[in-house]
Amino acid sequence: MAQISITVDGAALKLEADQRPTHIFADNKDVVVCRVNGALKDLWTELSDGDVVESIVISSPDGLAVLRHSTAHVMAQAVQEVYANTRLGIGPPIKDGFYYDFDPVNTFNPDDLVKIESAMRKIVKEGQRFRRRVTTEAEALKELAHEPYKCELIGIKGPAGEEASVEVGGSELTIYDNLGRDGNPVWSDLCRGPHLPSTKHIPAFKLMRTAAAYWRGSEKNPMLQRIYGTAWPSQDELNAYLELLAEAEKRDHRRLGTELDLFSFPEEIGSGLAVFHPKGGIVRRAMEDYSRIRHEEENYEFVYSPHLTKAALFETSGHLQWYADGMYPPMILDEELNADGTVRKPGQQYYMKPMNCPFHNLIYKSRGRSYRELPLRLFEFGTVYRYEKSGVLHGITRARGFTQDDAHIYCTKEQMVGELDSLLTFVLNLLRDYGLNEFYLELSTKNEEKFVGEDADWAEATEALRKAATAQNLELVLDEGGAAFYGPKISVQAKDAIGRTWQMSTIQVDFQLPQRFELEYSASDGTRQRPVMIHRALFGSIERFFGVLTEHYSGAFPPWLAPVQAIGIPVADTFSDYLGDVIKAMRKAGIRAELDASDDRMQKKVRNAQMQKIPFMVIAGEEDQKAGAVSFRYRNGEQKNGIPIADAIAEIKKVVAERTQV
Ligand SMILES: [Zn+2]
Ligand SMILES: [Zn+2]
Repeated sequence: MAQISITVDGAALKLEADQRPTHIFADNKDVVVCRVNGALKDLWTELSDGDVVESIVISSPDGLAVLRHSTAHVMAQAVQEVYANTRLGIGPPIKDGFYYDFDPVNTFNPDDLVKIESAMRKIVKEGQRFRRRVTTEAEALKELAHEPYKCELIGIKGPAGEEASVEVGGSELTIYDNLGRDGNPVWSDLCRGPHLPSTKHIPAFKLMRTAAAYWRGSEKNPMLQRIYGTAWPSQDELNAYLELLAEAEKRDHRRLGTELDLFSFPEEIGSGLAVFHPKGGIVRRAMEDYSRIRHEEENYEFVYSPHLTKAALFETSGHLQWYADGMYPPMILDEELNADGTVRKPGQQYYMKPMNCPFHNLIYKSRGRSYRELPLRLFEFGTVYRYEKSGVLHGITRARGFTQDDAHIYCTKEQMVGELDSLLTFVLNLLRDYGLNEFYLELSTKNEEKFVGEDADWAEATEALRKAATAQNLELVLDEGGAAFYGPKISVQAKDAIGRTWQMSTIQVDFQLPQRFELEYSASDGTRQRPVMIHRALFGSIERFFGVLTEHYSGAFPPWLAPVQAIGIPVADTFSDYLGDVIKAMRKAGIRAELDASDDRMQKKVRNAQMQKIPFMVIAGEEDQKAGAVSFRYRNGEQKNGIPIADAIAEIKKVVAERTQV
């Protein structure tokens, strides 16, 4: 047989022409897929002379995506085995797992998942090979005549959206056959691939839940049933993932928001619109107060702007052209009618604001500006309204009404580099003050297809952001071509206590708005110049940051943020008066302290305080009273006895002032 020469993971190799990657990597079970000349391919792919082959292990990002998509594929096979006449939608991999959309005869229930999972285990055990078969549009339409959704995908020319690209969107239309033990196909699916070599390469998986989902994400289309699942390279990793989910569930801010009486979403107001209760209000105000002080120290100037505006402002800013979908529909106001009902004077359209920037530009423009005033840093706790799809709403971390800690910085080109550098330092230090300590940065650069402004300005701003980022000694991830059309951006990603990443602050350079609003300043040489504009939200929104901190701390806020910092618990009723005086002294010293004067027994009071995650339980019994002292019991159950009252007050005040956790 003829021989071919190829390169495998950088090394030259000669082999028989009928050998495939699956043979080359037969000894390494971790290799589940490969790249051939840069393109992701099945291990069963045929090789040609001169091919450059790279092995891909199951635990790599590509390997995980292929594992998860292959598992989705097996799930679809199992669903059709158990429930014949179920129609198939799409089944892409997603973060940590996969889903597949189905049009079933009957809606799936939790028992169905158990049945489907056990059918999947059988398929996995059988070790069915995934075999790729190239087809034509006409053939595929004939073969898949009973699958209307797949037929629709075949008809879509070009990219069918990111998720549908798993099925079609490659240069060839392909169907994958699953081969049973006898080598004959037992099931087929329209799919671009690639897949694992066989179903037995799926080490660990679990089906998670079902949800309703519109076909291809549009409410104009039929409602399908989505099954979510997860798959991992080992049972241990699956177990660790399930534990993380359980931990996240315990910390879920929506649940803690109710348990700790922080906020709620009354049905009467509408979805995505929260009210903050007194306890949540205290946390929020503590967050805002500290932020305000720090911003004042950094020479930000505080401004205010209304919640709604005439449409013209968002026409000038461009929001109505490119952001209208995310805005609440307009109100028509001030229309005047004649007696016969005809319009004498047409009404004005008013919009709720989705962003604060245009308002700040008007403040900038309210009078002439000199270079001496720059950088001008305008700050607002600006409440905005965005019409988010109900499917993406998630407690206060993704809401329809929220308050941004929004700032716009106007500076000269020469000031930009220094401004971005000090801004990033300020942002990171402030996040650290709130207790987040692990970060990485993401730099989004120009999309060559779509941008406004001059190349040189982009290059300079991107370089300035890169320099500022590098100076932080943090991991920097490049999001090549990921910038919005109006300027490059840095985003700060923070890790929480259980290792989840949250996008926090963004620092965004904008070449567009100064132009649209014709912003100017007079330079030192008397010429009129255009300022550089930087958008910067530090928390993102106060609500979202509140939610993130609630989950990060699992509701056990550090004392400076805790709604109640200290609660007095008398050992018995007799000591209530004494302890009441101590609590009064604490309140006088500025500590948020309360006395539990309920009829509950002491042990019950301690349990309640634990449930409320109050940092300091201040306990007093006979010995304490005699000594003019109290005992502290901390959230971790540790106790410290006989603390003189003045020392107790000083200890609480110290941790509050230093914003440390106890
Ligand atoms: Zn597939
Ligand atoms: Zn802005």
